[in-house]
Parts: sequence; C-alpha cells; structure tokens
Amino acid sequence: MSDANCIFCKIAAGEIESDIVYETDELVAFRDLNPQAPTHVLIIPRRHISTINELVDSDGETIGRLFMAAKHIAGEEGTADPGYRVVMNCNEAGGQSVYHVHLHLLGGRRLGWPPG
Ligand code: 5GP
Ligand code: ZN
Repeated sequence: MSDANCIFCKIAAGEIESDIVYETDELVAFRDLNPQAPTHVLIIPRRHISTINELVDSDGETIGRLFMAAKHIAGEEGTADPGYRVVMNCNEAGGQSVYHVHLHLLGGRRLGWPPG
C-alpha cells in the first residue's frame, strides 16, 4: 500500500510538506519542488506503485484518473487552451528519479520537442 522509504508516499500521507493543488481519495497533485515550467505539477496515486513496469490491468482506472486530474488542473492553471504536456518517466534511462509513479503536468510556456 505504501513504502516507508518513499518520499511521495510521505507527501501523500502529509508527513512531508508540499504545495497540494488537487486531491481525491485516490490521488494527490502537488507542485514540483524544482519546476521546469510556470506550471509543473506532479500527480500521483496515493497507493505506492514504483514504475510503469509494475502496473497491472486493475491499475488502469487509477492511471486514467491521473490524466483526468491533469486535464482539470490544466484548466485551473489557465494552460488548457495554449497547451501543456503530461509525461511519465520510467526507470533510469527514461529519466525517473523518484520511484513512485507520477504524471508530470507541464505548462505555461512553449515546450520544446523532442525532449532531451
Ligand atoms: P522524475 O525525475 O522521477 O520523473 O520526477 C521526480 C520529480 O520530483 C522531479 O521533477 C523533482 O523535482 C520532484 N521532487 C523530488 N523530490 C520532491 C519533493 O520532496 N517535493 C516535491 N514537491 N517534488 C519533489
Ligand atoms: Zn510511494
């Protein structure tokens, strides 16, 4: 359910302070500590899942709700119309540094492609 050594489990439990912008019984969304865009929010399931590779079929609804939360927050942040990006990194070569799945929502500026 949760991992005692996981920083995002601690954020979800309120044991580590964060700037929460949206939450439900299933997920929490908070501002990234080191923002890469004017809007940079991380959306996480409350339940600990380390990487995309650990996802099972029954996680599908939860992962879908992360995207629905991203859509909602993008609207609140005023970045829905100009546009934004959602991205989930997987493992070291994919750029993952915190091993609790999280959807990045980036917006508020023009984003380059392809990513570095
Ligand atoms: P990843 O590299 O795993 O895709 O993304 C992890 C993100 O978590 C990074 O953008 C990093 O800035 C952010 N981060 C790491 N530790 C904390 C923290 O304690 N609080 C918050 N709000 N963000 C964090
Ligand atoms: Zn965790």
